[in-house]
Amino acid sequence: MRNEGLGSWPARRARKTPHRTALIHDGVRYSYAALHERATRLAHALHARGVRRGDRVAYVSPNHPSYLETLFAAGLLGAVFVPLNTRLSTPELAYQLTDSGACALLHEAGRAELPDGPGVRLRLPVGGTEYEDALAAAPADVLDEPVGPDDLCLIMYTSGTTGRPKGAMLTHGNITWNAVNVLVDEDLTTDEVALVNAPLFHTAGLNMLTLPVLLKGGACVLVGSFHPTRTLELIERHRVTVMFGVPTMFELLTREAGWATADLTSLRLLTCGGAPVPTRLISAYQDRGLTFLQGYGMTEASPGTLFLDAEHALSKAGSAGVPHFFSDVRVVRPDLSQAEPGETGEVVVRGPHVMPGYWGLPEESAAAFTEGWLHTGDAARVDTDGYVTIVDRLKDMIVSGGENIYPAEVEDALLAHPDVAECAVIGVPDATWGEVGRAVVVPREGSAVSRETLLPFLTGRLAKYKIPKSVVVATELPRTASGKLRKPEVRRLYGPRP
Ligand code: ATP
Ligand code: MG
Repeated sequence: MRNEGLGSWPARRARKTPHRTALIHDGVRYSYAALHERATRLAHALHARGVRRGDRVAYVSPNHPSYLETLFAAGLLGAVFVPLNTRLSTPELAYQLTDSGACALLHEAGRAELPDGPGVRLRLPVGGTEYEDALAAAPADVLDEPVGPDDLCLIMYTSGTTGRPKGAMLTHGNITWNAVNVLVDEDLTTDEVALVNAPLFHTAGLNMLTLPVLLKGGACVLVGSFHPTRTLELIERHRVTVMFGVPTMFELLTREAGWATADLTSLRLLTCGGAPVPTRLISAYQDRGLTFLQGYGMTEASPGTLFLDAEHALSKAGSAGVPHFFSDVRVVRPDLSQAEPGETGEVVVRGPHVMPGYWGLPEESAAAFTEGWLHTGDAARVDTDGYVTIVDRLKDMIVSGGENIYPAEVEDALLAHPDVAECAVIGVPDATWGEVGRAVVVPREGSAVSRETLLPFLTGRLAKYKIPKSVVVATELPRTASGKLRKPEVRRLYGPRP
């Protein structure tokens, strides 16, 4: 085959395991042969509607087989797939459509408001008859465009936690090497049945589970949105072996009425990313004979970077682990020299899974790298065994009287208080200390909080300089579509007035 990229995966799988199940959705099974045929037909349908090599094809819908069909169809044409977050507002979607210069948009049928991206010539609702008719009318002739590892595969937007989302350019090689890292470190097999609850428009749901499982020839059960009761049912019905989630999803499962009686014996691996899994949760699952694989990564790195295996889940609790097989990670000082064990520095990463740069942002791209190392903007510490603990985002660090305060640590302490539902800690200017911490707190319903009520609780838990000097009460906090705190917005709303 001349196509060495993702677009060729269904064809290669159909050659090896045509009858095995690739996808399950809403009770319908798609074999690898069917996935191959559907992706090929869609590629022809897109080509007939003007999509060419290098063109950007955008997609917005909850998890559905058409997501993977579009990704592979774009790969067959040498076009670039642009998955968009279903929770974005119309102007946010419009920005990403314009920024990526998408010429086609495949979208969920019932979506009411869709922006007019200036260059979008082709719109196709997915999941309905129009989509099926387009597939049926297109030929299924073999497509074998030359596509190599350095060709662009995806433009994936970052979550926009620290500013406007940036389009990370990910090549076919980046995605493939990440999948290799996952397969090497997680021992996934052809018999895997993966439950894909996490949204495919985020890098983790796509790259930490779905694509590695499809590369290996396992089956993916696609679920449009996470629902705890349904999740337990699906695990039983499909004898699910592996699932990926964020800690909150795993926490919600344990609160389900059916949790105690659910048959979880098919589950082999639970993989978790985005934040460390609390020890309490690790224990709750261990009681059921289940352990967590945990990881740290970012869109720019396809995303797998650090990995904590199940064996070390408890002994290294709180840590994000050690680098994936084909990933080099260092924790460095501002001059790029290596930080000592225990010293806080910035995580930098290098490897074949790291993006070449941001789409349309040459200056930001150049600034993101030093000597081939990608600056993650995350602060971390390494222990003497080489395990890395993520501390916080460097941009959010507060410098108070020469001491560094990492807001995440202060927020963790505040969240342990029974009256605190949500909180964010930011730095505000101070004549004496340069900067001091301010806590913005959403109290639990029926509770009231103030600095006076929180002070005795924080004293002893935190060093004095870390205790916020002021507390502001809020009714809600600004978050990204994926639920991450938007600190620049918190600072704008609750910082000092200019
Ligand atoms: P933006 O780059 O647009 O501001 P973002 O960084 O939130 O948004 P993502 O690429 O989705 O976008 O998220 C990657 C970030 O998530 C990492 O840089 C890190 O800050 C955080 N993160 C990921 N995994 C972990 C983890 N295991 N522990 C702590 N933080 C994590
Ligand atoms: Mg980021």
